[in-house]
Amino acid sequence: MFDTHCHFDDERFDDDRESAWKRAEEAGVGAAVIPAISPDRWDRTLSCTREGARFAALGVHPQCLPAIDDRAIRDGLDRIASLRREHAWRVVAVGEVGFDHTIDLALASPERQERVFAWHAEVARALELPLIVHVLRAHDAALRALSRVKLPSPAGVIHSYSGPAELVGAYEKLGFYLSFAGSVTRPKARRPIAAARVVSPERLLIETDAPDQTPTGVAPSVTRCEPAHLALVANALATALGEDEPSLRARTTRNARALFKVGTVL
Ligand SMILES: [Zn+2]
Repeated sequence: MFDTHCHFDDERFDDDRESAWKRAEEAGVGAAVIPAISPDRWDRTLSCTREGARFAALGVHPQCLPAIDDRAIRDGLDRIASLRREHAWRVVAVGEVGFDHTIDLALASPERQERVFAWHAEVARALELPLIVHVLRAHDAALRALSRVKLPSPAGVIHSYSGPAELVGAYEKLGFYLSFAGSVTRPKARRPIAAARVVSPERLLIETDAPDQTPTGVAPSVTRCEPAHLALVANALATALGEDEPSLRARTTRNARALFKVGTVL
């Protein structure tokens, strides 16, 4: 399996990162993308990659916008091309970036979020890398903004998709894949399941969003989500879609490898 969104650079993995990865491998996870959240942490993100298995995306998360000014964002984005040259296989996407209307909109207005997104899209196009996009309670604003900028091809992924099934087609038309996280494991997961059902077969991805979004089904004592929990997401999604689990695992892995252009592990 391919965990397309795992914040494996988070401090909550500092004590056991490699043993957590071993558990992930034992659960059938062969690869992951680690999306960065802020330029001052990009070196940390890059240091958590591992050749052939763990890759990085570089960007500025909308939830970090209140703490960073536009100048620092521009300076950061200016470094991506050289970091990509220097780190070659490590950098496979631009992000995490996006649209979030649950944060302090006085410091990160929708206009500012759109502006920052447009800068990321420019870098992604120049480097021919897909975008990792976060959209939370902002689907209308996101779709408006996404249709106003030139996107790379493929455009990227809408991670942990939380929107209605009706908007899936609009995102696909813009060139996006859609990724699903632990929300599909909830007993009353109607909305994400309805959305997953209408995603084109070759556009479906899975993720943990670890260390957040711990799926239903782990022991109650476990509060931190980790990449091994991807098996629970795959199982819930396969059941909901009426698909064999091995087939869903293989399909979503193929899709992720096509999007991030990383080779097949033998
Ligand atoms: Zn994230």
